[in-house]
Amino acid sequence: MLRNEKINEILLLMGAFTFAFFIGTAIHEFGHVIALRAFGIEQYKVIIHPFIGNQIIWNVNDEFIGYVDAAGPLFNILVGNVFLIAFWKQRQTIIPSILLLGPVALIQEGFNSLIQIILNIPESDSVRIIAAGVPGSVLTVIDAILFCLGVLILTIELPLYGISSDDGQIDRITTIMPGFIGYIAAIYLYNLAFNPMGATRGLVLIIFSAAIAALVSFIYIPVVNRIGDRLHCDVVQRDRKILSMVVGLAKGTIVLGLIFFN
Ligand SMILES: [Zn+2]
Repeated sequence: MLRNEKINEILLLMGAFTFAFFIGTAIHEFGHVIALRAFGIEQYKVIIHPFIGNQIIWNVNDEFIGYVDAAGPLFNILVGNVFLIAFWKQRQTIIPSILLLGPVALIQEGFNSLIQIILNIPESDSVRIIAAGVPGSVLTVIDAILFCLGVLILTIELPLYGISSDDGQIDRITTIMPGFIGYIAAIYLYNLAFNPMGATRGLVLIIFSAAIAALVSFIYIPVVNRIGDRLHCDVVQRDRKILSMVVGLAKGTIVLGLIFFN
């Protein structure tokens, strides 16, 4: 692969991933908001920050506990995958960022929930969902399925970002890894500088993204050959116009997140 071409592929993946990751976390919070509104609770505060992370603060009401908490993850997965299905046929031309919303939401929610259950994080969505009566074992199995499904869809989509089976394993991983880690590294550095309490979360996210990048690179050939081919997910070489749209969209959403929600 030519050097310039590789840099463009990294930027394309980085732009699409940044957009999908940040928008996914925002959609999650709006899921909580919709549930709160549906239950007639109007006193809450939503904090959205592209680098520190999001949070919703409400006077926890035992009657609605669990429902409000489940609405965040469910809404993120629903919106992301409705977009994925709606735009799947236009995958050659539509802004590639939108197609990542579905798998990124599945991975985000599956992984977050597993961490919350394993570390028993107080006041977290999953710990409250379990407190509301959903068996922890059932939720763990659902999370694992969501996570695996997300990784599978993400891998199937990689050819749409120019990742080809002609590239060697090293070539593939050195494109995918920086593509996934770019935004996460920015989260880590921001926290290191301005919010040291959040630096550990940043570090965990970096390790996690690197692991996902390694995993999808590793399973790329069998998955793309067996499933991707059947879904006609061919390699798409994106032109400069699409690349600047994807990068612009990522920058735009981050700037909007910084300006409007704080
Ligand atoms: Zn939540």
